[in-house]
Amino acid sequence: MLTLHGTGIGGGVVVGRAVVLETRLIDVPRYRVEFAQRAGEAARLARAVATVRTELETLGTHLPADAPVEAQALLQVHAMILDDPSLAPQATVAIESHGQNAEWAFASQAEHLAAQFEQFDDPYLRERGRDVTQVADRVLRVLSGSGRALRARALPGDVPLIFVAHDISPADMLQLKHAGGFAIDLGGTASHTAILARSMNVPAVVGLDRAGQMVRDDDWLVIDGDTGVLIVAPDTAVLEEYRHRMALGLLERKQLERLVHVPSATLDGVPIELLANIELPAEAAQSRDAGASGVGLFRTEFLFMNRRELPGEDEQYEAYREAVLGMAGGPVTIRTIDIGADKALDGDDDAHEPAASPNPALGQRAIRYSLAEPDVFLEQLRAILRAAEHGPVRLLIPMLAHGHEVDQTLRLIAQAREQLADRLRRPMPPVPVGGMIEVPAAALTAPFFARRLDFLSIGTNDLVQYTLAIDRADHAVSSLYDPFHPAVLQLVSQTIRAGERAGKPVSVCGEMAGDLEATRLLIGMGLRVFSMHPASLLRIKREILRCDAGRLRTRVSRLLAADDPARVQAGLDRLREA
Ligand code: PEP
Ligand code: MG
Repeated sequence: MLTLHGTGIGGGVVVGRAVVLETRLIDVPRYRVEFAQRAGEAARLARAVATVRTELETLGTHLPADAPVEAQALLQVHAMILDDPSLAPQATVAIESHGQNAEWAFASQAEHLAAQFEQFDDPYLRERGRDVTQVADRVLRVLSGSGRALRARALPGDVPLIFVAHDISPADMLQLKHAGGFAIDLGGTASHTAILARSMNVPAVVGLDRAGQMVRDDDWLVIDGDTGVLIVAPDTAVLEEYRHRMALGLLERKQLERLVHVPSATLDGVPIELLANIELPAEAAQSRDAGASGVGLFRTEFLFMNRRELPGEDEQYEAYREAVLGMAGGPVTIRTIDIGADKALDGDDDAHEPAASPNPALGQRAIRYSLAEPDVFLEQLRAILRAAEHGPVRLLIPMLAHGHEVDQTLRLIAQAREQLADRLRRPMPPVPVGGMIEVPAAALTAPFFARRLDFLSIGTNDLVQYTLAIDRADHAVSSLYDPFHPAVLQLVSQTIRAGERAGKPVSVCGEMAGDLEATRLLIGMGLRVFSMHPASLLRIKREILRCDAGRLRTRVSRLLAADDPARVQAGLDRLREA
């Protein structure tokens, strides 16, 4: 038995058999071809390239309706790479002039091209190097006559197939719709492969480093996509344990699905709004199907990342409109760009990069960046205001700390509105403007922000980071990152109370909203709007249906009087009975 650790993409637990995909350019057969056979060898390469071109076209025209929006664009990138003059044409020269066999000639050109991309500093261009390798793998598979691994094999008793690879191209993943799970050596949580795995909702782990070498075809495997663990050849006790967990997971999923249309309210009849956090426009419709009544946080910075030029007003408008239409009448809360800190822009245009900072989490991030780049900000505001003509939109401002940031933002919103009214010759619909409370200074002065704005949304991920002085991305101090620290709870509770007093809605959109341990606590504090990753919605709804908001209010006010973490923990344990 061997345990490997990587980055979990989610999707729960699966126990299944390995299908190892040969996706590396190593082990390519290399031999000399006699002069008389070189034309035939070149024709063999041309046929393989043509087959791959047809495969990519067929994939493009048969994309499933629920395929992620990026899929089509990725297929186009791969088709362009396939036609790159430095690949097949140069490989043909190597066959005809030097007598290399087709695999050798093509793999050498691909390695050369991929290496050129890998030298770039720009992460977007480096990523294209991986695309070159993936396209080359496809051609080499055709040349060697082995589409084998991609054809799902029948295994007795419907055992899930877990695909293991050094890397899997997004195009190949689309062919693996019936996969039971993925274990991949490369990639981080934001890689294209990870994004597709997440949208397929199967257990997946990326960044495993050596799984492609350590796993053999047909090995029994366990994947825990939530904790990022891959177990190879588990012993019987471990296998049984995970089989049991997998069965429980499936059963729970089925039971939870019944709650999709059940109104979200506590036992004593207090309605609780359940909203979704999304990163891409297409996720709005998906989260609606998963039971969200709206989008509580659209992290728009993902539209600005992994690309060379910032998206313009029209492109952003299309994206926001897609989310609004996807929600079909439910509110969509669009947060203005939260770039900076761990979310970098990768573009060519250094003029629009956030200013370099020795401590980026405290530097020119979020609203600070937008106010320093008013033209970029106005473009985004105009796109959001235009999208609001298609359904209820709310505008959310990240990382406020100062009153003048609110003044400046409201002035720029008014300016964007005037620019549009002049250009389109019609008034734009009103859009509520809210602020994220994620800096302790904002939480401590929450009554001010509640008076000035239409709603507040508590970003507990950053509020914990800034209150406890713990970098949320630093493993070395992650054990000290504690959302239940009494200081954090005081700030969350004060913010909710400030909203109640001002008659303004308050939501929590940080990870705490999707944490079952926090549901009763937040309801007891008076929270009535939760926004979270759609996969957590129904589990949280089930908990809401079991709580009594009135009883929780009394117990939580006692808990909040404690400044001793041990007493807070004891109070939290007692909430389970309320
Ligand atoms: C937060 O900080 O809690 C939040 C929701 O914003 P993000 O995670 O995008 O920083
Ligand atoms: Mg934040």
